Amino acid sequence: MSKNVRVRFAPSPTGMLHIGGLRTALYNYLFAKHHNGEFLLRIEDTDQNRYVEEAESDIKTALIWAGMPPDEGPDNPGSVGPYRQSERSETYLKYARQLIDQGNAYYAFDSAEDIEAMREELKSDENPNPKYDSTTRTSMKNSLTLSKDEVENRIKNGDPYVIRLNVPESGTVEFNDIIREHVSFDVKGLDDQVLMKSDGLPTYHLANVVDDHLMGISHVIRGEEWLSSAPKHILLYKFLGWEAPEMAHLPLIMSPAGGKLSKRNAEELGIPVNVRDYIRLGYEPDALVNFLAFLGWNPGDEREIMTMQELTKEFSLEKVSKSGAVFNIDKLTWYNEHYLRAMTDESLVPALEKELTKAGISGFNDAYLETVVHLLKERVSLTSEFVNQGRFFFEAPSEFDEKAVKKAWKGDAIDLVTEFKDEVEKLTDHSAANLNDKLSGITEARGVGFGKLMLPVRVAITGTGSGPDLFETMELLGKETVVKRLDTALNKFSE
Ligand code: GLU
Repeated sequence: MSKNVRVRFAPSPTGMLHIGGLRTALYNYLFAKHHNGEFLLRIEDTDQNRYVEEAESDIKTALIWAGMPPDEGPDNPGSVGPYRQSERSETYLKYARQLIDQGNAYYAFDSAEDIEAMREELKSDENPNPKYDSTTRTSMKNSLTLSKDEVENRIKNGDPYVIRLNVPESGTVEFNDIIREHVSFDVKGLDDQVLMKSDGLPTYHLANVVDDHLMGISHVIRGEEWLSSAPKHILLYKFLGWEAPEMAHLPLIMSPAGGKLSKRNAEELGIPVNVRDYIRLGYEPDALVNFLAFLGWNPGDEREIMTMQELTKEFSLEKVSKSGAVFNIDKLTWYNEHYLRAMTDESLVPALEKELTKAGISGFNDAYLETVVHLLKERVSLTSEFVNQGRFFFEAPSEFDEKAVKKAWKGDAIDLVTEFKDEVEKLTDHSAANLNDKLSGITEARGVGFGKLMLPVRVAITGTGSGPDLFETMELLGKETVVKRLDTALNKFSE
């Protein structure tokens, strides 16, 4: 790569960061790091109506959590700030004026009703959605149709106006997209995009182009939904006499039920939409990153498990696919299980503590919690399942799984468990190995299967018919608790 790579993640703070946004950020990050370049965060907050106060901090938290801190951004500005568009209004106005002076933009005074009336009037079968464009602007109230004096008077009088892009009447806009390759748009399909709104703030299009240029952005990497805006941006670069950055439009993320993954169908399918939900549910950042990296890209070999470092080394935009990538939540679960199991027990204790706090459980020391993690780690997909799967480590079961009770507490279960309980009480060393010896000793002596005793004991201790290693569980719980739970079950099920 000859030029210095500088890319940006440029979210609009209109809501919490969603999973598709994080993938865009990730591809930008990987590309930047692969080329030893910079990854910028720019907040595109020019739409006051859709501004959500909490969004910016949510975005930053998500990026840090996922392990992709911006090299420059509102909190760590470089030399091209400010990094919030709302703080750069003056700059945009300057370029809007330049465009007007050059004849590449014009003032337009039409009210919403004027535009609606034009649409109604010109609507036809061939043109069901008339636009404000080169064919209609001649009949509207703008600085192309009104006299110079009138335009000046209107502005002086404080009449509301917008500044629109003067799209040429004919021709094509062509550019090369790194993923989509050659792209060509007929300018006839383009409307005279509003560049500055009546509130004096720019629209996304103008601000985006001006900032990408002034911030020295070398590559624009963003979702495919922006591809149709790209020709307007290319025109703006041309009019402003700037070289356009390279472009790469990422494939859409598709729903497993077909079509684009929208907020609505994601919710219907139980796919979390916002990154904060993945954090709350206890997904491992490495797993989510690995999964998202493969949502539209792969290294071209068999590898599926790749750390951020490996992804950085291998990533290239040329290997990003053109077609949409289906969001498969089971695959994410698979990744999460992999990363979870690769983590040390100790490193997962804080996640368990977090879940316990949520459940209002406290009073267990770190060594105890580490053993719980050890026993549960292979049995959960997410750390948020720790308490659900292992409540019995912290409290006596308050309910017993009916099916398991029926299956386990029958025949001579009472006799067997009573004998086992007596043996446990006599044990001086309450270790898993000793407990196992005692239990198998009893079943062997009586000539019954191991499960005949093991299962009712498990139900008594955990409330269910399956779970982590029973003997290690009992060792951790300690003699007193084990005896108490066996007693409770014996009383309960002897009826
Ligand atoms: N502000 C746009 C968004 O919210 C950025 C699009 C772009 O990257 O150009 O996604």
